[in-house]
Amino acid sequence: AAPLSNIGVLEIRIMPYGTGQFLLIARDITHVRQLETMRKDFVANVSHELKTPLTVLQGYLEMMQGMAEPDSPSIKAMDQMQQQTTRMKLMVEQLLALSRIEDASSIDLEKTINMSALFRVLKEEANALSQEQYRLSFICDEQCDVHGDEVQLRSACSNLISNAIRYTPEGGVINISWRQTPSGGTFSVTDTGEGIAMQHIGRLTERFYRVDSARSRSNGGTGLGLAITKHALSHHQSELNIVSELGQGSTFSFVIPPHLLKMQ
Ligand code: ADP
Repeated sequence: AAPLSNIGVLEIRIMPYGTGQFLLIARDITHVRQLETMRKDFVANVSHELKTPLTVLQGYLEMMQGMAEPDSPSIKAMDQMQQQTTRMKLMVEQLLALSRIEDASSIDLEKTINMSALFRVLKEEANALSQEQYRLSFICDEQCDVHGDEVQLRSACSNLISNAIRYTPEGGVINISWRQTPSGGTFSVTDTGEGIAMQHIGRLTERFYRVDSARSRSNGGTGLGLAITKHALSHHQSELNIVSELGQGSTFSFVIPPHLLKMQ
């Protein structure tokens, strides 16, 4: 993050105030920005520092698992430890991904993402995650590419797909599509899963916000996926739309504006 020590930040708002008059409000938010930068740096540094000891722990655990007697009580305990360290590592990696994406104030919009190639990768990922337990359908507009950052857009799409699979009971239907629509390029994931109650929808992109923490944890969630998605989309001048009905399913979608599309 850019150091803000020598730069003051002023927030200026202009609002209508009676007929023909305007009210100008100027607020010094330097301190708020400095605290925000400190918070982001702290999270990024802690996550980075945790990565190495966790990798070492995992390595030793693997070695000990190889030496222990099969079916012994200690191998069961080691399996548990391995599962928990893998989970911690995923969290640390997602925290780092979030700090990186929060810091990238702008992205190179000169690069072109080949969307049909990206869609093929997403399709393979979805098929591997679903393990033939879901009915998946895919529609991709092969002509419609995007100016943007492939890594970021891929992580936004992957998060929506893995959530659809994780929050839909086996046997459910998941439709994934990328098409050109009048408002832009629309990526959409629809599931027939558990759905989300209205009061939660506005908060889902907050860090660590989960409708049911225990459930999210047990199915491998970290509570960071949609926060990462939100930032990735904002760098592509897009936002996440969520339509859901409890017990019926959800649609998560976003629209890439026409000026960031490249038609073949
Ligand atoms: P998590 O790792 O917990 O899935 P996310 O940030 O990806 O974190 O999602 C936040 C929360 O949004 C989830 O914990 C879950 O409660 C809810 N959610 C996300 N996607 C879906 C979905 N397709 N169906 C139902 N709930 C969902």
